[in-house]
Amino acid sequence: MENNKQMRAWLDDLGLDHPLVIAGPCSAETEEQVLGIANSLKDTDVNYYRAGIWKPRTRPGNFEGVGALGLKWLQKVKSETGMKTATEVANRAHVELALEHDIDLLWIGARSTVSPFIVQEIADALEGTDKVVLIKNPVNPDLSLWLGAVERLHTANIKKLGVIHRGFSTYEKTKYRNIPEWQLAIDLQTRFPDLPIINDPSHITGKRDMIFDVSQTALDLNFDGLMIETHSDPDNAWSDAAQQVTPDTLIQIMRDLHVRKESSPEAEFNRKLSNLRAQIDVIDNQLIDTLGKRMKISDSIGVLKRKRNVAVLQSNRWNQILGAMILEGESKGLSEEFILKMFKAIHQESINHQEKIINA
Ligand code: PEP
Ligand code: MN
Repeated sequence: MENNKQMRAWLDDLGLDHPLVIAGPCSAETEEQVLGIANSLKDTDVNYYRAGIWKPRTRPGNFEGVGALGLKWLQKVKSETGMKTATEVANRAHVELALEHDIDLLWIGARSTVSPFIVQEIADALEGTDKVVLIKNPVNPDLSLWLGAVERLHTANIKKLGVIHRGFSTYEKTKYRNIPEWQLAIDLQTRFPDLPIINDPSHITGKRDMIFDVSQTALDLNFDGLMIETHSDPDNAWSDAAQQVTPDTLIQIMRDLHVRKESSPEAEFNRKLSNLRAQIDVIDNQLIDTLGKRMKISDSIGVLKRKRNVAVLQSNRWNQILGAMILEGESKGLSEEFILKMFKAIHQESINHQEKIINA
């Protein structure tokens, strides 16, 4: 797939002075709920009104969406409020129904992007459409799988394309519902700078309190827009209750976000600087996370040593680590002096942890 400006014409043509906003409930529940939320959002910066009609659920037995009936409600939203509409499609039948009901933007969900069969089926059903199609990242952090899906749609002659970054699942529990792995989204942007990229802080965080911070990081990283789940009564939502915000909160979030839209050379400098700083922040957080994991392993070694009454300091092992890391560091442009200092500090922290365990 070649990089071309045409991919983002649908977005540029909107001529927005703020990031693109897609908002609305996780799921369409009732006609009243869908229209009620739409009415609270119609005079705001929201550009597309979303509502899930067919809901992919990890486990069976949860609310699986109202089905095609909800498409009529979305049509009503469009005729009553003038807002453009958006929903998720996961197979050929969904695509046909969504097109019949004139839905303006269709997205492919994270659980579909993992399957080239499903993506191809959707691409075939959409062939040549002039609707906007956005592809969520696959649930696993695999850039080629994500790009593969974009390519399938591009090849199906779909001109209005974009991607949604909604984070990646992990076996390990983290503070996120789906970890952002920002580096992966940055790599995608670097390879396809003209492909619009929207952040979905709702599915990344899983918690409404964290939505603002993730949205700000996304804007600092030059994302083109946000998809934020919005519900009039979030706590009683039929799906994803913990992560939805009220329309008022959404408006407040949009007001508080720092959007860099000025276009002086000074603004360009500031935009670049804040983008680079956001990248550094992402990596610093990963460093702390990795060091925390290293210390946990070190603690387990401490427990083993205590059982066998083995000394904490094993100098042979330590010298081996240092030698290997100095070489590794050199290959990454890091000085021997820096590697020595850093590993001495890590080693010291490790010894402190183990001593505490052995003497407990
Ligand atoms: C959604 O947007 O409601 C949804 C199901 O998202 P995802 O595919 O990211 O899980
Ligand atoms: Mn959801």
